[in-house]
Amino acid sequence: MQDMLNRADTPPISNALHIKGVSHTFGSFKALDNVSLEVERGSFTVLLGPNGAGKSTLFSLVTRLYDNVSGTIDILGADIRRQPTLALRRLGVVFQSRTLDSDLSLAQNLYYHAKLHGFSGTEARERGAHALKVVGLSDRADHKVRELSGGQARRVEIARSLLHRPAMLLLDEPTVGLDIASREGVVKIVRDLVRRENLGVLWATHLIDEIEESDRVVVMHKGKILYAGTVPGMLEHAGEANIRSAFNKLVDADTPDNKAGAAA
Ligand code: ADP
Ligand code: MG
Repeated sequence: MQDMLNRADTPPISNALHIKGVSHTFGSFKALDNVSLEVERGSFTVLLGPNGAGKSTLFSLVTRLYDNVSGTIDILGADIRRQPTLALRRLGVVFQSRTLDSDLSLAQNLYYHAKLHGFSGTEARERGAHALKVVGLSDRADHKVRELSGGQARRVEIARSLLHRPAMLLLDEPTVGLDIASREGVVKIVRDLVRRENLGVLWATHLIDEIEESDRVVVMHKGKILYAGTVPGMLEHAGEANIRSAFNKLVDADTPDNKAGAAA
């Protein structure tokens, strides 16, 4: 674990991710409306929003799939438009859809990906082995991905996102489709990483029960940020006693016909 702390190019900036005034349209549809948010290093920040809120669109902008034409996005101070190589080198991503090669072993998947990052054969192997250890799958290194459970496959994707030792990790609905035990395993791995490695994490979900008291929460609805801050702050802001009621109240207030969007 130790070597993962030695990130050569991570300046002493407390914001791992800083998004400011970002909007995005698909044709005439405004999917993101002046979105600003910050993820501090060592913080597990939940991006909470119902389906269609704009979570994946925001991730597509941070990963530069779409160009952000308004506002700014920076990763530890590196602007993704002006310094894309530096910014993306500091970013790890676990996408919503599965992207492992199921006919390759875990070790092979990680090896090829580490090679894509430009590491030598020996280093690629070492980084792959280390990342598998971090997610508790060392004993499965030579199994094919298709032999894994959904939760284990997710853990391999997390391992893959860590190969280049990012300081900021984006995860897009990483627990969707997993049973409760696997969900808990995946969340725990990421929470441990945040604590041990001072990683900034932005965890997109529509599942309210994944939020813990000490997390930061960003509530997103119809492309807008309705709240960003601590959990107690969210309850106080909404005048409610629990996260679910607070979330429903915030969404209700943002819904003209007063029918809240579905949240699990
Ligand atoms: P979430 O990830 O929170 O479920 P998305 O970012 O996927 O939300 O979608 C936000 C909104 O943008 C939705 O209304 C969705 O239908 C729309 N949208 C997403 N991608 C596209 C696209 N490529 N073209 C048109 N509309 C899109
Ligand atoms: Mg999505």
